[in-house]
Amino acid sequence: MGKDSKAFPLPLDVLHILEVLHNAGYEAYIVGGCVRDMLLNKLLSYHINIHDYDIATSALPAEVCALFPRTIPTGLKHGTISVLLHSKTYEITTFRIEGSYRNHRSPDSVRFTSSLKDDLKRRDFTINALAYAPHCGVVDMMGGVQDILKKRIICVGEPKARFSEDALRILRALRFSATFGFEIESSTKQALFSQAPLLQNIAKERIRIELEKLLCGDYALSVIEEFREIINLLVPLRGDVSILGHLSVRKAPIVWVCLLYGVRDEASNILEHLRFDKKSKAYILTLLQYYEFPPLMDKSALIAMIVHLGGREGAREILQDLFIIYQAQNAEAIKSLQSSLEAIFNSKLPLSLKELYINGDDILQMGIQGKRVGQILQQIFTATLTHELPNEREILLQYLNTHFL
Ligand code: ATP
Ligand code: MG
Repeated sequence: MGKDSKAFPLPLDVLHILEVLHNAGYEAYIVGGCVRDMLLNKLLSYHINIHDYDIATSALPAEVCALFPRTIPTGLKHGTISVLLHSKTYEITTFRIEGSYRNHRSPDSVRFTSSLKDDLKRRDFTINALAYAPHCGVVDMMGGVQDILKKRIICVGEPKARFSEDALRILRALRFSATFGFEIESSTKQALFSQAPLLQNIAKERIRIELEKLLCGDYALSVIEEFREIINLLVPLRGDVSILGHLSVRKAPIVWVCLLYGVRDEASNILEHLRFDKKSKAYILTLLQYYEFPPLMDKSALIAMIVHLGGREGAREILQDLFIIYQAQNAEAIKSLQSSLEAIFNSKLPLSLKELYINGDDILQMGIQGKRVGQILQQIFTATLTHELPNEREILLQYLNTHFL
């Protein structure tokens, strides 16, 4: 507990909740990730945006409910009550000890306790076993502050046993290392390798979520290199993934594409296996299709690509993502491609049927029906793309009348 760390600014609602619990005679703290992130910002000048404030208290769930007018029993069995304040929810969890674990994932039972220390002991890593309240500052019973300063990840308790209780912690360790650039301490590291096969017990959705956070970390590449053997149990790692170290933006679809390029023939199956939703899967597969940097792409090839991707509206997001990938492959050459792209986007050229200044109705009004409507529209679209015709309504209508009536 340090005086200097007493003054963390907290949102007013969070202060209010802590105060209500405190005034009613209970202990109450913010705990876990939010305390860790506040300390990372303060001690190591990181820039982490803190969004979730988890609150832990000695009050029992029913006692929490009695203190706040609007509550939802979100995870009653595990002691979690959500409190609604100013249309936001805040999770308040009673201090607890976890019982024996089932399937290397979730505890069979939980037992409530009035001891903060017991609650901190069940947490995964020392850096996550921190609590804070304005009246007492940071509560550090497991040495988490020291480990933040030393930039290291250490299990609370005996690493092998902790990973065996819940194998997801293996991936969480790698994820925290990849996001914060922290070393994993040697006995924790040893246990990571020896317990890694237990990851097969973990639900694929959970694996996907953690792996995605890992891949989005600034230090993902070195973690993948060091723990290749473990990641390989989850996603086959073949080929070169060093591009992950060159990305200017790390976001979900892009990092998956960079990871999967070496196994692109299996990508569809892998995404399926990791329970990706249909839309994200399709998006990643499309990015994979265009992954290779196109050094000889001239203007017309670029236009064809935009048309294929759905025109100005449809292609914008995917092109932005592709250019992040291309830039990581060849930062110099991307510049001319980028300026050609801007010129095309700023031109009047229609890049999808929707952008043509005539539509199916205009053709129907001429008395043409059926399949022929679409064919004519396509023909005119192609003619504007190749500059045989300008995309101007009057000229296109006139062309329709003279050629198709
Ligand atoms: P993030 O920044 O992703 O939210 P986090 O550490 O806050 O990271 P959460 O899943 O929000 O992760 O969990 C909140 C806290 O609960 C953790 O900081 C840790 O103290 C504890 N915790 C979460 N998952 C586990 C786990 N699998 N085993 C033990 N403790 C856990
Ligand atoms: Mg959290």
